[in-house]
This record gives sequence, C-alpha cells and structure tokens, in this order.
Amino acid sequence: MPGNIETSVLIIGGGPCGLLTALLLARAGVPCVICEQHAGISTHPKAMGITRRTAEIFRQCGLLNEMKALEFATPETQLIIWGGTLCGEEYGRAALPDPNTRLSPCRPFHSPQPHTEQVLLNALMAEPLASVLFEHRVRHLRTLPQGVELELETPGGPVMARAEWAVAADGAGSHTRKSLGVEADGPGDLGHFLNVFFHADFGAGLAGKSALLYNILREDLVEFFVSVNGRDLWLMHHFLQSDNEVPKEDDLVGIIRSAAGIPDQRVKVLSVVPWVMSPKVAARFRSDRIFFTGDAAARLSPAGGMGMNTGLQSAHNLAWKLAAVIQGRAQESLLDSYEKERRGLSVAVMRHTNDNSGEVFQQVNCALSGDISGLKSLLQRSHRREEDLRFDIGAFYGDHVRFPHAATNGNGSSTLDWFGNGFVVVAGPQAAVGAPDLPRVEVLAEFSPELGCGPDGAVLVRPDGFIAWKKVSGATDEDIRTALDAALR
Ligand SMILES: Cc1cc2nc3c(=O)[nH]c(=O)nc-3n(C[C@H](O)[C@H](O)[C@H](O)COP(=O)(O)OP(=O)(O)OC[C@H]3O[C@@H](n4cnc5c(N)ncnc54)[C@H](O)[C@@H]3O)c2cc1C
Repeated sequence: MPGNIETSVLIIGGGPCGLLTALLLARAGVPCVICEQHAGISTHPKAMGITRRTAEIFRQCGLLNEMKALEFATPETQLIIWGGTLCGEEYGRAALPDPNTRLSPCRPFHSPQPHTEQVLLNALMAEPLASVLFEHRVRHLRTLPQGVELELETPGGPVMARAEWAVAADGAGSHTRKSLGVEADGPGDLGHFLNVFFHADFGAGLAGKSALLYNILREDLVEFFVSVNGRDLWLMHHFLQSDNEVPKEDDLVGIIRSAAGIPDQRVKVLSVVPWVMSPKVAARFRSDRIFFTGDAAARLSPAGGMGMNTGLQSAHNLAWKLAAVIQGRAQESLLDSYEKERRGLSVAVMRHTNDNSGEVFQQVNCALSGDISGLKSLLQRSHRREEDLRFDIGAFYGDHVRFPHAATNGNGSSTLDWFGNGFVVVAGPQAAVGAPDLPRVEVLAEFSPELGCGPDGAVLVRPDGFIAWKKVSGATDEDIRTALDAALR
C-alpha cells in the first residue's frame, strides 16, 4: 500500500475544531496530520457568531485581527429583531449580550464559518509539524496497544495511517464515535431545517432595522435570518414543518420574498444545507487513545450560537494536555481531566441552548396559531440574554476557571496575553517565587478581588489560561513545584 502515514496525532476531520486542534498541537511541537474527506474547507457559512472566550483563544493564537477581517456589526446593530416581515412590521427587538463587559479584553464578533476555517487553515499551512490531507476519508479505525491505525480512502487508493493518539473532530454525525460504541444523549430531534445561503439586497427596506438576527414569525411562515455581511449576503434557517416538505430553489426564492415582504425582490440562492436540530452530548469524550472534540463530542442547538464555540474551547482544553503527555512532561492521567472539565460544561451549555430553543419554539407556536399579541408578550419575558452572557465568556464553570482579565497597560494589553505557551506563575510583588527551573513569573501589582490573593500570594496558570492552583499568601517556590507536579497528573 503506497503512501503510508506515521505521525504523533491523527486528527479526523478538517472542520474548525480539527483545524484548531492541529494548529495548537503543531505550535506546541507535536507532529500531527488532519485527514479530511472533502477536497477543501467548507464553503457554506454555518456558524457565524464568535463568543468572547473563543475570541480570547484566537487572540492567544495571534489570529484575532484576521478573524475579525469580515466583522461588520456595530454596537447599534448587535440586535435581534422579531417581525412579520423582514422589511415591514416589527414585533420587538432586543440587544444581544453587552459587548462591553469588563470580564474580557475581547468582544464577540461575527465571522462566517468558511472565513474562520480559512484563517485557521492558513495558519496551519505555516506550521512545519502539521499537514492537512484533503480527500482522505477515514474508512476504518483500529486501536493498537500503543496507538491507533486508520484506513483511509484517497483518490489514489487506500492508505494506512498510524499515530500514538487520534482526535475525532468528524462532526455531528461522528462515525468514529459511533464505531467505538460511544453513545450520545440529548432530547432527540427538535426540528428539521434547511440552511439557505443567499444573495439579496433589501436596500432601503432595512433602513433603521440593521440587525444580526431576524426572526420572521407569522401564521403562514417561520423563517430565521442571519446577516452574513451586514449588506446582501444572508442565511435563512427554513423550518421544515412536515416530512413531505422538500422546497426547490424557486420555492425558497418565493419564501424569501414573502418573508421580506417584497414580492419582486431579486434573490440568488447560493447553497442549501439540510440539518437536524438534535442536541446531544457524548457519554464519554475519550475512548482509549481516541478523543472526541467539537460536534463529535457535543452537538448543540444553534439558539445562542454556542455550538462551534463550545467545540473550539474543548479543542483548546485538549491540545496542551495531549502535547504535555506526548512530550513526557505530564502523566497520561492528565488526559482524563479533558472529559472531567469539558463534558459537564458541554451538558450545561446544551441545557442552556435547549432552553433558548424552547423559548423560540414557544414564539413559533404563538405565531403559527395566529396569536401575535401573545408572541409580543413572550418577547418581553425572554430570559435568554443574561444567561447567554455567562456562557459567552465560557470560562467560569464550577471550580474550573480561567485567570481573570485585567488590563496590564493602557494599550489594550491584558493579563490573558501572558498565557498560551507553557505554565505561568502570576505572583504578587512580595511573593518569594522565581526559581529558574520553574515556570516564568509575571508580577501583578494587585490581584482582582475574586482571587482573594494578597501581595505575597501566587497563582499557577495552565497553558490554556485556566487556574491550576493558587495560594492567597506566603507562596514559595516549593509550593509552585508541588502545584506544578499535581497539575501535570
Ligand atoms: C447547516 C448548519 C448550520 C449551522 N448553523 C450554526 C449556527 O448558526 N451557529 C452555530 O454555532 N453552529 C451552527 N452549526 C454548527 C457548526 O457548524 C458546528 O458546531 C461546527 O461546524 C463544528 O465544527 P467541527 O469541526 O466539530 O465539525 P464540522 O465542522 O462538522 O467538521 C467535521 C469535518 O469532519 C469531516 N469528516 C467527517 N467524517 C469524516 C471521515 N470519515 N473522514 C474524514 N473526514 C471526515 C467532515 O467532512 C467535516 O469537514 C451549523 C451546522 C450546520 C450543518
């Protein structure tokens, strides 16, 4: 068999979560290979919203500016609008979570998924330790005593690939997870949708109504619109209300015109992707030497825009641990913490986004029964936004907390900029720490009150920016040595 592949980590799937996993591993010095069945990255904008925590990760990777290149929203347009038509009757509007929170140096922003993937791919191509093999479909996976073996289907014929570890980032239908007998659990199918990417310039029809999301709800029509570029590119989530409904392109154009309230609107459908809202979290995030990340670990309702974000944050949690184990700096038991830290959080996010969907379905039911005044009063009672903000930060779950953001100078620098490359000790000015064989020390004049550390306290921070250990006063090098040892097992 020609072209056999040997590497440290095989990553199944070149979506956003596979790409980020590979980038972080390669930058940590771990050779890795992505096997992606398609000929390139995705071209259909699926996930659009980047939360603050994901923005922090991109900032840590030095990719934030490129990621934000297509950002178009302003504080005034961070809105969701409900109405009977896109360009006509409005039922209500609500601001999306306040982007100016003091908790993060980053703001949430919009980036169509193909752009997010392209920026990750470009960064990955510059990494000598990583490669992406398009048109390499994983047909079969076998666990070996000290590794994994994949059988790949390629245009040139079958290829075998071997590695010490594998990461399955093969999406919501994860064949890998299913083939390993790992179940995923959730509330079942909540709805079937078509995701329609189209071009239409609604021009003056949207004057005074610039928003990111529009829910168009009527007795005869339920459509959810997402602005892709703030001008003329759109996604419409078309809710299929019966199994028999299979709209053709002309039908979709008619639906868009009706939802817009402009019967002769010029519309060009660019691509259509069917999808099922079926939130599920895997029972396990690991099977022997294979880890699940992204949608393969947790597929979430899009209400709240947490799906891809939760996956990227899981990849970020996993990559440094895998690198530390492969390079002999940590014990294998460290890898168990991936599931401990990410599964419970994923279930919490799933419940939250299911609640969001529940609210939307209540609104939909009101509209379908013609009760528009009931719908308007539901909009007044929405609970979503505060909770959305909590999960938008995505870094405060149980006792698993990322080091707090604080400005380190007046130029926009943050304490978060200290992290990403190895462990870091953040110490008060009087702490007796700084042995050369221990992690780099950053001195913080004053800790934020939630940490409770005094001037001789110290905090050990992991490469992902999360707190491994802290001592509020009297921190010593010996404490750090013990804490580091514990953080790596
Ligand atoms: C139509 C649609 C609309 C969506 N809208 C939103 C939204 O509005 N907001 C939101 O947050 N999320 C949305 N999502 C979800 C979001 O796109 C996912 O959360 C995100 O793509 C997950 O990234 P991932 O890398 O885990 O998986 P994916 O992006 O699914 O990537 C998995 C990759 O694995 C590859 N693969 C699968 N099997 C194999 C195999 N055997 N061999 C090799 N490669 C394989 C696939 O080709 C794919 O490229 C939407 C998803 C869909 C389908």
